[in-house]
Amino acid sequence: MIELKGVNGGYGKKQVLYDINCRMESGEITSIIGPNGSGKTTLLETACGLLAPFSGQVIADGEDVHKTDPKKRAKKISVLSQQKSAGALTVRALTFHGRFPYLGYPRKYTDEDREIVEKAMKAAGVYDIADETLSELSGGQQQKAYIAMLLAQDTDIVFLDEPVTFLDINYQLELMELIKNMKKQGKTVVMVIHDLNLAMSFSDKIAAVNNGRIAMFGSSKEIYDSGIIEDIFGIKAYRYAEKNQYFFTKG
Ligand code: ADP
Repeated sequence: MIELKGVNGGYGKKQVLYDINCRMESGEITSIIGPNGSGKTTLLETACGLLAPFSGQVIADGEDVHKTDPKKRAKKISVLSQQKSAGALTVRALTFHGRFPYLGYPRKYTDEDREIVEKAMKAAGVYDIADETLSELSGGQQQKAYIAMLLAQDTDIVFLDEPVTFLDINYQLELMELIKNMKKQGKTVVMVIHDLNLAMSFSDKIAAVNNGRIAMFGSSKEIYDSGIIEDIFGIKAYRYAEKNQYFFTKG
């Protein structure tokens, strides 16, 4: 579980987030949705500890995330950001990065680390390409390699910024299954996701963000019923209840 209390934040003198209060629960997927520039990535980066808030607190396990030692924090919170640079690494080497927070000095992997890495690569479906270099893989394969790294980091709280953007539908659904598995293990999963139908059909909770504020926080059904999506995106939304699917049109 992770909780934001009265968070104001942004960059330098530029305020982007205003009075954010919300709680992301364990064993749930919470998706942050909202128009471009509404503050989704800023909210995610502030919540996961990468970007210090101007005021307010982010609390995980009763501790202020921004006051927690980074190594300790990395055992609790993992992040898959939008920008990633690890092109020269092999999939296996990248996955081992997930174990960094657990290593002592000198950095030496244990048999347990090796086992966790193998298991993570298998679960993410990259075991067969473990020795391939990331820069030579497709976008979907690369994304799965990063997911393997997150699995190896094995934190209770996982943040993902646009995990499925630019992937074909097959990879999207595969990745969403991996993300659902994290939830089943009791992890707190928080993601920024552009695809509204994916967000609404896979998430337990939605944080609908507009102009740096949480316009509404609730289940997909509550969000749909409230009409907030139509307000903040200026579109028309439809729900196909039987399949828990959502459709959107221009007006
Ligand atoms: P979203 O993820 O919803 O598209 P962002 O959180 O990326 O929105 O951006 C919200 C606002 O913060 C935008 O006005 C954007 O220009 C600004 N912003 C984002 N990153 C930075 C940065 N590194 N420095 C200054 N302003 C930024």
